[in-house]
Amino acid sequence: MNRRIVSFETESVEKIVIPNQVFLLFGMPGAGKGTLTKGLLDSVKNIKHISTGDIFRQHIKTGTELGKQVKSIIDSGSLVPDEVTLDVVATELLPQNHDLLAYALDGFPRTVNQAKLLLNYLDRYKFPFKNVLYLKIDEDTAISRLSDRLTCRSCSASYSTTFNPPENGACKCGGELYQRADDTPEGIYKRLNVYKYETAPVLQFLEKMELLKTIDCNGDNLEERKQQALQILNSSD
Ligand SMILES: [Zn+2]
Repeated sequence: MNRRIVSFETESVEKIVIPNQVFLLFGMPGAGKGTLTKGLLDSVKNIKHISTGDIFRQHIKTGTELGKQVKSIIDSGSLVPDEVTLDVVATELLPQNHDLLAYALDGFPRTVNQAKLLLNYLDRYKFPFKNVLYLKIDEDTAISRLSDRLTCRSCSASYSTTFNPPENGACKCGGELYQRADDTPEGIYKRLNVYKYETAPVLQFLEKMELLKTIDCNGDNLEERKQQALQILNSSD
């Protein structure tokens, strides 16, 4: 997170309410998906963040039936079947005792088949769905941003050695800063390749469905980016 740029915000900003909907977040590694997600969660009252990666980790950790199933699939070197992943997402989406919220889906869909299953599901249960936030960034910018990144071991805040350097070499919270293993040149190369082969086709599919809302993420103005996202999520057309 770029603290210098967001520093004019006060801590006690009143949260806003956006229309009920399901929306997706996509972006190349380094585009700032985590930072934008955090910004939205801090600004919007009726939002629920659904990260399939986090959910799977939680199920495995607590040893639920699903967790055991997923763990044995992953341990055998296979991919979790699309239907299982959709089931997990569907459980999170089903409005149980609460009203329909704005759901931010993160890390899903990963394949075109998953995207088709999701669209069918949302259509069947009449979830409002029209926004796919695509955080667009040039590959060069992504690479320089990732190679430049330092992350805090305690609070996960991130710094840039060039445009947002940490004071005294440590995080504001006092935590130790380190370079994540996947922010090394080999790690970055690997992640960008996964993105190209895995995510790009899903984006093409969603673009054909005229769902993509592109947000330029090459610049460093995080507040402007968040406002742009809120404007998209707020619009009624
Ligand atoms: Zn920290």
